[in-house]
Amino acid sequence: MFEKLASQPNDPLLALIGLYNADHRADKIDLGVGVYRDDLGRTPVMRSVKAAERELLEKQDSKSYVAPEGDRVFLELLWDLVGGKGHGKFAAGVQTPGGSGALRLASDLIARAGSGRLHLGVPSWPNHAGIFGATGLNVETYPYFDVPTQDVRFASMMKALSSAPRGDAVLIHASCHNPTGATLTSAQWEELAAVIAERRLVPLIDSAYQGFGAGIEEDVAGLRTIIAAAPEALIAVSCSKSFGIYRERTGAIFAVAESQEQADIARSNLVTMARTSYSMPPDHGAAVVRTILSTDSLRQDWIDELNSMRDRLNGLRRELAAALSDGWQLAPQIADQQGMFSLLPLKEADVLSLRKEHGIYMPTSGRINIAGLKSEDIPRVARVLKPLLG
Ligand code: PMP
Repeated sequence: MFEKLASQPNDPLLALIGLYNADHRADKIDLGVGVYRDDLGRTPVMRSVKAAERELLEKQDSKSYVAPEGDRVFLELLWDLVGGKGHGKFAAGVQTPGGSGALRLASDLIARAGSGRLHLGVPSWPNHAGIFGATGLNVETYPYFDVPTQDVRFASMMKALSSAPRGDAVLIHASCHNPTGATLTSAQWEELAAVIAERRLVPLIDSAYQGFGAGIEEDVAGLRTIIAAAPEALIAVSCSKSFGIYRERTGAIFAVAESQEQADIARSNLVTMARTSYSMPPDHGAAVVRTILSTDSLRQDWIDELNSMRDRLNGLRRELAAALSDGWQLAPQIADQQGMFSLLPLKEADVLSLRKEHGIYMPTSGRINIAGLKSEDIPRVARVLKPLLG
């Protein structure tokens, strides 16, 4: 059987890690992989996560299965954090292996019950198209961001979505857009929500960076505007970044509807699809998140640490923008963008020469992970980038 298979290429970002590791220059810089890094280049376990793990080690008295939809307390607490109250809608959630697992179940649901068509902004996280394609969805694209001008293509996006057929799904990034960092204003969120409601589109909102952009509440404000307006929505949540628990594979998919009964019907379908795939989600990460969110002192410590991670990112953005500003007119946009990523207007040849000549690593798209920078690297990075951007 195996001889009928063609070997598959490595994921380009994973291949980039290999190239970076093989480079022996002491001053090499990794702006590739999408994980948060501190000023020493580490991706540490958050203090609140360590404390929750110690508590779990002491108190956990069984490793028996969790409920089919996962840990209900985790789901309730996570929904409060993301969806909040006051939108007048009802939610039913299923715990998933990471945000990717949530997107996969959402995609399965759209294939089962929806039009089978999903509108995806360009550019987007590359795995979006991969996941939606894997469940057989027909993926159509809408313009989101113009790399040369660093602007959101809002008018073109609205035009495309205004003519999308009723019942189609549309993928929206909640905040900290990957790969562009470009955000919508609150007036634009309102306009987007109105089009979604009017066209009866089903928003699939991907929330993977809550707390990394403007603030824990601010980063879900747009998402909540859409929930309030749309009759139905699917919300895919990743805890990987916000809690720094990437490898614990922790996330959830929430079906949001105008009645609890409708939301529960959607959940029962999500549960049966999970059952025939991986059956039950892993417990540990969700137990950590539940412990943090339900313990006042741990919750506060988590908020404090997440806030300081965001401050570091925003500080680096300002420093990089300032260092680029005397050679690149659009540099201030880097400071206005949010989250870990920005997408620089670089040619593939430029990206390859940055690797070869300067040991600066990023994918050929030109996406940089701001968290991969250290303050002391910024003058050097800006000096080599300016002639390529200006
Ligand atoms: N959505 C976006 C936009 C992402 O960038 C990521 C991770 N890179 C995910 C979802 C999925 O995250 P995970 O499966 O690791 O929780």
